Amino acid sequence: MNEVIRENLETVESRIKAACERCGRDRSEVTLIAVSKTHPAEMVREAYDLGIRQFGENKVQELQDKIPKLPDDTMWHMIGHLQHNKVKYIAGSIHMIHSVDSLRLACTIEKEAAKHDRIIPVLIEVNVADEESKFGVSPGETKDLVRSIAKECPHLQIRGLMTVAPYVEDAEENRGVFKLLRKLSVDIDTCNIDNVSMSVLSMGMTGDYEVAIEEGATHIRVGTGIFGARDYGKK
Ligand SMILES: *Cc1c(COP(=O)(O)O)cnc(C)c1O
Repeated sequence: MNEVIRENLETVESRIKAACERCGRDRSEVTLIAVSKTHPAEMVREAYDLGIRQFGENKVQELQDKIPKLPDDTMWHMIGHLQHNKVKYIAGSIHMIHSVDSLRLACTIEKEAAKHDRIIPVLIEVNVADEESKFGVSPGETKDLVRSIAKECPHLQIRGLMTVAPYVEDAEENRGVFKLLRKLSVDIDTCNIDNVSMSVLSMGMTGDYEVAIEEGATHIRVGTGIFGARDYGKK
């Protein structure tokens, strides 16, 4: 057993608990997604054996490689930019797609979900900080996109919003980003759009998940903090 993963998970868990206590939330309101991208299936299995069931990946190829190697009750989250021509490879097995940012992509997912006769839970990715390098819809266009997808894609169930905050030295700098996503989510929720819920707020990564929890995150995506640094050179 990998002691490093065990210790890392203990650290992350105690920080989640502390953040929940600081803002009066129950630990059960926050789902930890272990982001296993670039790490081998054996490491994912170790985290699984330590009780983790939800994993995040950002490439279809890696999902295809790892899904068959983990037990059936593992829940996989697609958190990265999704290419249209690859939706078909994950439509039957993905637990949730966090990165829907256009009607066109939603319609592709709709078609593949229908083929599998299933409804796929999705989040709308919002580019809150309006960074040019990022994927995601702008905050101002989010509500219209939610309405269009809800109307045209019966095999998608919109569950909430996701954002990738900028990389910052001090997590406090991202508090405003998280506040804005939360506010947008509350705003959309009050519209009571059919077949749309705003119960999920996927925000916060290794560097800033505690601030994200204080600002209402229901799903945090932690990679480095659990599995250690990623080695992109190895691939
Ligand atoms: C890689 C990644 C994460 C995890 O980042 P860490 O800083 O390693 O915790 C979270 N969300 C998305 C969308 C990612 O691509």
